[in-house]
Amino acid sequence: MKINAVWHKAHLMPKNPTLEQRITWHIEHTKECGCREIPPKLQEEIRKWK
Ligand SMILES: [Zn+2]
Repeated sequence: MKINAVWHKAHLMPKNPTLEQRITWHIEHTKECGCREIPPKLQEEIRKWK
């Protein structure tokens, strides 16, 4: 999938993101861009989170 550079510029990951920030970022990211997938470890956290 193509990288959505515009989205990435507007949604920079914070320097020391909290788990919540990372999860939110990745959920938004998968909707807008397909340059990389959610890491398996984070996917696990998302499942626990919901
Ligand atoms: Zn991306």
